[in-house]
Amino acid sequence: IGMKLPELVTEQLAVQALPGRPEFGHKGTFGHALVIGGSRPFVGAPLYSAHAAYKTGAGLVTLAIPEGIYPAVAGQNQLALLRTLPEADGHFSGAGVEAELFEKVNAVAIGPGLGRFDGGEAFIEEIIRQLDGQPIIIDADGLHHVKGRLGLLARYDGPVILTPHPGEMANLTDRTVADIEADRVGVAKDFAEKYQVNLVLKGHRTIIATPERLWVNPHGNDALAKGGSGDVLTGMIAAFLAQGAEAAEAMQTAVYLHATAGERAACTHSHYGVTPGDVIEAAKGILKEME
Ligand code: AMP
Ligand code: MG
Repeated sequence: IGMKLPELVTEQLAVQALPGRPEFGHKGTFGHALVIGGSRPFVGAPLYSAHAAYKTGAGLVTLAIPEGIYPAVAGQNQLALLRTLPEADGHFSGAGVEAELFEKVNAVAIGPGLGRFDGGEAFIEEIIRQLDGQPIIIDADGLHHVKGRLGLLARYDGPVILTPHPGEMANLTDRTVADIEADRVGVAKDFAEKYQVNLVLKGHRTIIATPERLWVNPHGNDALAKGGSGDVLTGMIAAFLAQGAEAAEAMQTAVYLHATAGERAACTHSHYGVTPGDVIEAAKGILKEME
């Protein structure tokens, strides 16, 4: 009684959740995703998110990175608009977050490759304060920096999606990874209810939680167990939000697409050889079947 059981993430659910592509649409119709991340050791992560967002339908993608990694990022970037923010010690300094950064932006992903740094909490708090209800996705070390600000997220005037892997979930909840893994559904449900946020608890059999509902994803495999994989998922969620999907829809369709793209990539590249870039490429074939 009163027990919520998770529903399955199926192809049908993902297809229903996929935002439409009006024939007359222009790049503004399909939204502008902003990815904020990167640091000296993590140049690839924000690029994976930005490229995944571009290749899953966002009309525009802006990537905001610390200024010192600009040459490295620019050299590998073909798709995103690049913005730089002040840097200290290989990370964002925390300065330079101004409303102008978020003008005409429809979805914001914070965290890929961000790293941990003094002032990280204040940096994210400032971003959230400047936003105007646009959907926010928080991933990777963005989750670490937001741990002490979960109340702020609960009060935010727009959708919030957190995408922790089990280690990040353990950190967020002050539990062990073993505790999280022993009760993935219960942990995700309790967190989403308590903080009134949407959650993607990643790993084998990813759990999607809204404050009201739960889903479990039966797709995906070990080919996805590689650095950069989660950054691709974050970019996909951002793209679907930018294209107008509701939070639950964006999580459903992105989790399905990412997982089945991992399976598809493993068919040609082997379970050993799949890279995050291969997952982004394989997603095109899955989208072809979904559209
Ligand atoms: P991250 O740890 O942030 O790079 O995210 C890893 C991504 O790969 C998440 O979407 C996981 O759900 C997925 N993943 C990793 N290992 C597996 C696995 N064994 N089976 C299915 N999905 C996986
Ligand atoms: Mg990650």
